[in-house]
Amino acid sequence: MKRAIVMGGSYAGLFAARVLSDHFEDVVVMEPDLIGDDGLGRRTPQRHQLHALLAMGHTQLERWFPGITDELVKGGALLGEGDDVQFYLDGRLKAPVAQARMLGATRPFLESHLRRRVAAVENVRFCQAQVTGLVLRGDRVAGVTTAAPETEGGERFDAEFVVDAMGRNSPLEDWLVDHGWDAAPVDRMRIDLGYATAMFHRGDELGGTVIAHSSPGPASDYQPTLTEPGALAAVEGDRWSVVLAGYADHRPGPDREEFLRRMRRCVDPIRTVADASEMIGEVKTYRFVESRRRVHSRLNRFPGGLVVVGDALASVNPVYGQGLTLSALAANALGAYLRSTPSPRDPAWAYFRLVEAVVEGAWQLSTAADLAQPHVTGPYPRGYRVQKWVADRLTEASVRDSAVNAQYMGVVNMQLPPKALTSPRFLARAARVLLSS
Ligand SMILES: Cc1cc2nc3c(=O)[nH]c(=O)nc-3n(C[C@H](O)[C@H](O)[C@H](O)COP(=O)(O)OP(=O)(O)OC[C@H]3O[C@@H](n4cnc5c(N)ncnc54)[C@H](O)[C@@H]3O)c2cc1C
Repeated sequence: MKRAIVMGGSYAGLFAARVLSDHFEDVVVMEPDLIGDDGLGRRTPQRHQLHALLAMGHTQLERWFPGITDELVKGGALLGEGDDVQFYLDGRLKAPVAQARMLGATRPFLESHLRRRVAAVENVRFCQAQVTGLVLRGDRVAGVTTAAPETEGGERFDAEFVVDAMGRNSPLEDWLVDHGWDAAPVDRMRIDLGYATAMFHRGDELGGTVIAHSSPGPASDYQPTLTEPGALAAVEGDRWSVVLAGYADHRPGPDREEFLRRMRRCVDPIRTVADASEMIGEVKTYRFVESRRRVHSRLNRFPGGLVVVGDALASVNPVYGQGLTLSALAANALGAYLRSTPSPRDPAWAYFRLVEAVVEGAWQLSTAADLAQPHVTGPYPRGYRVQKWVADRLTEASVRDSAVNAQYMGVVNMQLPPKALTSPRFLARAARVLLSS
């Protein structure tokens, strides 16, 4: 196939471009933001926040960009293994998972490496342009229009295939409606989450720790009464990235002293960094009002040659760190779809079915956990109370037992589907753990 256009050149767009390069002669990534050496840009403010890459996201990163972990580590990122990766629940360190492996790097650093690798792919090119609309021919996409008149073909760019990677506030739905198509139905859950991230100088105050993550659990009814929720990651440039999170009235603000006070109410490693390390620069905040996903398979018609990836498809509570991994898995689904040699004239239903199955797992996990917050008012799934009772017991067992925790973390890391937590063997092991103490 001749040309594909990716609208949006951030994490999901870069992954999509890499996958498309195996199937199209010419792949054009259209991105209006000029991303400088700091890798931050202007339009994606969440890049300032701590980003953790789940194990499945890391596997996909290496799959599509072999050797990138070594490059990142050479550049100063850290690879935490075993005890270097610590998860706390209600202030208690969870049972160790020998196979735990997590990368410590900032989002701009990770994404800059990805961008460099994609830019080195021969048939991929970047175009600094804001896409302003779709060009449709009959029932299929034939290209896009852009705001930059100097782009090839004036303001119009022809393509057989177009990918929406324009993030959470993608205007695609409005464009489709303007052309007489229906907008995809949207599932939402209002969570009213606040995030704040600050950087600190890193010495040897925490030995080999690369990731420490703390969240409230069943013992505190998921409220920040025993410890504050937060995390730290050892990142490039000999720094710690520290994030604090809170819901509704407990959202963290930008005040440096308040940030430090709150760190001192966190688990040990975060407290130690507050006391031993110097903060660099400002505290950056971010407000995340709702999780949402667009479900295209509920539509009766959709233009051929058009797909949606990344946050434009689904954007869930960042506390569970699923966004980058979902972006990579959407690219995977796109690869599987294109390998089946579909006609770009037809709607990509097979792609949407594949990707929505992945999103469903992430959505179930994050929304079920969010419903434990008193200010979150639903929608509740059928049997929610029983589900929560069981989930609380499993969570408790995962604190005490490494085998239970390994499977539990496999689900959290998106390596296993949520149903792995209902297998009879797993439930029997968790029951034995709970009854034995
Ligand atoms: C506070 C916070 C913390 C997070 N923490 C984590 C974490 O720990 N782990 C994790 O995996 N995920 C995390 N996420 C989620 C992660 O940031 C997103 O999933 C990820 O950014 C999605 O990438 P994307 O490319 O789909 O969208 P974005 O990164 O939002 O990029 C969209 C791109 O589209 C471009 N664009 C917009 N309009 C146009 C247009 N008209 N034409 C062309 N281009 C356009 C923008 O300039 C931008 O570059 C977090 C999110 C938030 C908000």
